[in-house]
Amino acid sequence: MDSSSPFDSIIFDLDDTLYSSKTGIGQSLKKNIDDFLVEKCGFPVSKASALRVELFKTYGSSLAGLRAIGYDVDADDYHSYVHGRLPYDLIKPDPQLRSILRRINQRKIIFTNSDRIHAMKALDRLGITDCFEQIICFETMNFNLSKATRPEEIPVILKPSMEAMNIAIEAAQVDPYRTLFLDDNVKNIAAGKAVGLQTVLVGRSTKTKEADYALEIVTDLVQVVPAIWFKEEEKDQKITRTRSEMDFVATTAVGA
Ligand SMILES: [Mg+2]
Repeated sequence: MDSSSPFDSIIFDLDDTLYSSKTGIGQSLKKNIDDFLVEKCGFPVSKASALRVELFKTYGSSLAGLRAIGYDVDADDYHSYVHGRLPYDLIKPDPQLRSILRRINQRKIIFTNSDRIHAMKALDRLGITDCFEQIICFETMNFNLSKATRPEEIPVILKPSMEAMNIAIEAAQVDPYRTLFLDDNVKNIAAGKAVGLQTVLVGRSTKTKEADYALEIVTDLVQVVPAIWFKEEEKDQKITRTRSEMDFVATTAVGA
C-alpha cells in the first residue's frame, strides 16, 4: 500500500475557516462596512446594508465594488476603518487547532482576502501565528493598486478570481496538484479546484461538486483528511520516482 501523503503544502483561508463565523466578528464587520458606506461615501443609512450585499455579490467586496464604480477609496483607509475597530477579543485562543497545526509537517500558508494587519491580529488571538510560514493577503494580490490614477483603472483582485488563485500559487511556490486548500466559501473552493488544488470546504457537513472534502470545523481535519499525516520519508521517494518518470515522458514527447 502506498502510504505517502498526497500533500506537500496546505493553504488555509482565515476568516470563517480557522475560526468560526459564530464568533460575531463577521456581524461587526458588516456593521462597520455599512457605517463606512454612510460616513465616508455618503450613502443613505437605509440603503447601506443592501448596497453592501450588492457590492459583495457583484465585485467580491465593498472595497472592490466602490472602486469599480468610481469611488476613490484608499484600501488602507478602508481596512483600518472596517477591520481596525473589530472586537478582536471575540476570537479566543484555540489550543486544539494549534496542536493539530503543529503536528502537520507540510508547509502551511494563509491565503485571505483580508489585509495583513487583520490577518496578523486574528492569528495572534487564535495563538497560531508561528504555525504558518507565509501570509498571502489583500496586499499580496493588490500590490499595484496605489499606482492607479483613477479608482476604476486597476481592479481589486480577490478570491475567487482566477488571477487571485494564480497569484497565490505563484507566491506560495506550490504544486497545486499536491496542495490542499481549505476555505469556507463555495466559490473559492470552485476556483481552487479549477486551478488544480485539492479542496476542503469548511463549515459544512456536505461537499459541493468542486470540494474533495467537507468539514464542519477545521479541527475535524484529523478525522476527515488523515492522508495529511501519511509518512514523510516514503513521500520523498515517491517525488524522486515521479520526477524521473516525468523527465522520461518529457524527453519522449519532444522526440516524438
Ligand atoms: Mg473565509
